[in-house]
Amino acid sequence: MPELRQDPATKQWVIIARERAKRPHEFMKPSAPEPLPLYKPECPFCPGNESMTPPETLAYRREGQANGPGWWIRAVPNKFPALVPEGNLSRREEEGLFRKMDGVGHHEVIVETPQHNQCIALMEDKQVEEILLAYRERYLTLREDPRFKLILLFKNHGLAAGTSLEHPHCQLVATPIVPLNIRYRFEKAASHFDDDGTCVYCDIVREGLRVRTRLIMETRRFAVFHPFASRAPFETWILPKEHQASFGSISMEDAKEFARVLKTTLFKLYKGLNNPDYNYIMHTAPIKDEHEDYYHWHLQILPRLVTPAGFELGTGMFINTALPEETAAFIRSLPT
Ligand SMILES: [Zn+2]
Ligand SMILES: [Zn+2]
Repeated sequence: MPELRQDPATKQWVIIARERAKRPHEFMKPSAPEPLPLYKPECPFCPGNESMTPPETLAYRREGQANGPGWWIRAVPNKFPALVPEGNLSRREEEGLFRKMDGVGHHEVIVETPQHNQCIALMEDKQVEEILLAYRERYLTLREDPRFKLILLFKNHGLAAGTSLEHPHCQLVATPIVPLNIRYRFEKAASHFDDDGTCVYCDIVREGLRVRTRLIMETRRFAVFHPFASRAPFETWILPKEHQASFGSISMEDAKEFARVLKTTLFKLYKGLNNPDYNYIMHTAPIKDEHEDYYHWHLQILPRLVTPAGFELGTGMFINTALPEETAAFIRSLPT
């Protein structure tokens, strides 16, 4: 019998297709892709090619000049941005019913290593810590711009996750409006707070740690789960155990612990599924609500093992062909 499960945070339902469910190891990629070179002459993110990107907004380097080599982390505006800093925020009524406005915002790329063939799962802890400190630093800088309502940080890893460049990087987009899906998340969390007086994500952490069947790991500050209503096989959430609304409020010390948790989580996925393609998305409170009680930042990792099809597009409801309790047990059993 298939099972419908509801995510307590969003109230969205998923179908867990028990009969069609595969065993966790059946999701493993059959063969490893061709190994990548350490350096690729035509890659705009490889060291020595800094002139192929717009001027940097951040770089961690010991020596050398801005926009030259010698860095270990580098952030640059996206060369083909979805949104741009210049423009007018007014909403112009045009073409009758249809509203439009300038595409104001900010879109940048954080290059996570000088090495073309690296990935977070296999990096040294120290480098992953530096990546998280760069995420934090750029978030804190962008949040100062009063035009921005939301800052979304995400990574596309692999072709099935929609990446166009192999070189390890993540993206930050600051938007002048709150996108509808995100607003919906905030509203559901706020209404849970209004009803119960608790943060729904704190409740999810507490329940996950009590039940433990979907728990991947727990550290002093963080918990990692496969969520009860996972939308896709091996969906994984990393949450701070104590309430914190915004990723921007993370301390430097906790950012380092988060880095080690993220690396271990991605390493286990790498080992268990043979370097799967995935997206991760940092969900964080809107800038104006960074100190509110109702929202709780967390990172969602969505391996791209199956392609959403007509049913998902038509309903927004996902059919998951794996049981989160089984995938969590499989990932838990892997070495770190
Ligand atoms: Zn490269
Ligand atoms: Zn909370």
